[in-house]
Amino acid sequence: MSDCLFCKIRDGLIPAKVVYRDDECVAFEDINPQAPTHVLFIPRKHIPTVNDIAPEDRALVGHLFTSAAKVARERGHADGGYRLVMNTHQDAGQTVFHIHLHLLAGRPLAWPPG
Ligand code: AMP
Ligand code: ZN
Repeated sequence: MSDCLFCKIRDGLIPAKVVYRDDECVAFEDINPQAPTHVLFIPRKHIPTVNDIAPEDRALVGHLFTSAAKVARERGHADGGYRLVMNTHQDAGQTVFHIHLHLLAGRPLAWPPG
């Protein structure tokens, strides 16, 4: 989608600190990190929200999780713990309408969230 920030990052039109990429997804450092590790995993396919995930996207969404787990392990968070979260619409604070899985780690994370 031409006016989507994360599509532009995917295409290299806007710079980002990319930490992982493959045929299906791209992962980059969040510009406003909320934890020592804060990485966003996006599918290359533009999907605006979780509400828009279609049955044929199930493997793709699963791939976001396994990719995030891989980076979490590489960064030493597998045993200490981490949080994966995908915000949807206003009440959850979604600001970019291209789905992204947040990987947060490196400090104790409060629950319930604010
Ligand atoms: P959400 O609120 O779940 O939609 O998350 C959007 C995330 O994108 C926020 O954590 C922002 O800090 C992050 N973000 C916004 N612009 C950029 C950017 N240019 N590069 C990296 N992360 C960004
Ligand atoms: Zn997009």
